[in-house]
Amino acid sequence: MIEIRNLTKKYGEHIAVSDISLEIKPGKVYGFLGPNGAGKSTTMNIITGYLAPTSGEVIIDGHDIYKEPEEAKACIGYLPEIPPLYVDMKVEEYLKFVAELKKVKKEDISKEVNRVMNLTRIDDVSGRIINNLSKGYRQRVGFAQSIIGSPKIVILDEPTVGLDPNQIKEMRDLIKSLSDSHTVILSSHILSEISETCSHVFIINKGKIIANDSIENLSNYFNSHQVLDILAKGDLDKCKEIITKLEGVSSVDALPGAEEGTVKLVVEAEQGKDVREDVSLALSSEKISIFEMKEDVKSLEDVFLELTSEEGEE
Ligand code: ADP
Ligand code: MG
Repeated sequence: MIEIRNLTKKYGEHIAVSDISLEIKPGKVYGFLGPNGAGKSTTMNIITGYLAPTSGEVIIDGHDIYKEPEEAKACIGYLPEIPPLYVDMKVEEYLKFVAELKKVKKEDISKEVNRVMNLTRIDDVSGRIINNLSKGYRQRVGFAQSIIGSPKIVILDEPTVGLDPNQIKEMRDLIKSLSDSHTVILSSHILSEISETCSHVFIINKGKIIANDSIENLSNYFNSHQVLDILAKGDLDKCKEIITKLEGVSSVDALPGAEEGTVKLVVEAEQGKDVREDVSLALSSEKISIFEMKEDVKSLEDVFLELTSEEGEE
């Protein structure tokens, strides 16, 4: 449905998107997850043809967004980070205007506008000036404009930012209801937002995709690596050396403990391995006592923070 190949966007010397390649298949809800400044909006603006990339290709349903922009754009509905609302217009008037722009047939416009107003529950404000609406209603108008004409692909940039919890729930339900008949891509800097709504996630950090998997696989993958927090009494380098040599151990970090002569160790095991016994036997055979050992279970939130936290931008 969408193919992105080697996409790069530079602003002057600054690389906002760096050699991203990905594939979007029909009928799923995809999430772009990443901290502020990661490059989510830039990527979405390129996919939707609002912004030209520095290099790379975007193919939408078989059409290159630059060589055949009309055909490509006809497949996409887009809710940018700042909704493209004409705030002096009335809701219904604005949506009719959008329907015309999107080349909905004249005789179908009223029906189509009623359909999207009904779906996004803005019928009751159809005659109001957009400028006078609350943030929640405005966001729904923005959402309504993105689904006019039932595009195959709906792209939503941070659709729940600034909404209250009830409005967030409504927006999530709306997005889920789209997934039966549309391919949806949404972005967020909040993990729960993505894990609640999406089946597949791309984690983006500093312009690069650092994870590309189903939500389920991502949580399983990280939880299938055992991580042990250990407090031992002994020489730091020696502890590290002993554990590093063990089979099934993938990494060891060692720091001096708070108490004189103790060491804090973080031991990471290879996927599916339980190294608790080997570690304790190896240390005690070298007369190193273990004061504490506990298994650290990582949540998806921990994983996300770990992947994206190093010297975040701005
Ligand atoms: P996100 O949507 O993930 O928060 P953006 O795509 O908005 O990230 O931004 C990615 C990077 O590109 C950031 O470092 C941002 O400062 C930079 N950037 C975005 N738009 C511009 C612009 N018009 N000019 C210069 N730099 C920009
Ligand atoms: Mg953004």
